[in-house]
Amino acid sequence: MILETEIEIIVNNQQIKYYKNLGYDAKYRKLLKIKTEHLVKGSHYKIFVSCDCCDVKKVIEFRQLKKDLSYYCSACSAKNKKKERIYHGRKNTNFKKN
Ligand SMILES: [Zn+2]
Repeated sequence: MILETEIEIIVNNQQIKYYKNLGYDAKYRKLLKIKTEHLVKGSHYKIFVSCDCCDVKKVIEFRQLKKDLSYYCSACSAKNKKKERIYHGRKNTNFKKN
């Protein structure tokens, strides 16, 4: 999850409209304080997060967050991937039997 609720960014040309639509007083190349969750998708801004599984704290780029703004550290996401693989394996076995 995101630990910083607000972040200061420098607005570039493509983002002015996006932030104005969100109700911010965005001006080209000016500092703008926004809610962290309002960063544009794929943003390289670094933010403080904690792993939604084990609570470890990290600084990552916003674009590394999942769609629902959750974050899993590399150890936990590796574990989750393993689980998924096992699950799919079972599913496939059942499918063959049927
Ligand atoms: Zn973790």
